[in-house]
Amino acid sequence: MVFKRRLRCSFCSRSESEVQKLIAGPKVHICDACVGVCNKILEATPVGPGDWTKLTDAHLLAALKPAEASLDAVRSVLQAQIDTLRKRGISWSQIGDALGVSRQAVWERFS
Ligand SMILES: [Zn+2]
Repeated sequence: MVFKRRLRCSFCSRSESEVQKLIAGPKVHICDACVGVCNKILEATPVGPGDWTKLTDAHLLAALKPAEASLDAVRSVLQAQIDTLRKRGISWSQIGDALGVSRQAVWERFS
């Protein structure tokens, strides 16, 4: 018997039925939501980390807000994943184990 393996986003683990689009690469997949997060990060970071020293004070100060916005976007994806797990009855200990931190640390950060 052949089991058809369900395709999942390599970044957020949502299955193809849970996302609008799933883009395939060599042994990886990315969903439309994760592409959206990537785009926000790219918009927020006009230059690579190694180029920070080449920016003027004004440019670097202006780059802080969009960089923070990209962090918030990534955090909201993580929070949504954790909220979903909690609704499914997954314990804070299990989530802490998955993140490699204590139950207490994960609860303080995400509850
Ligand atoms: Zn995804």
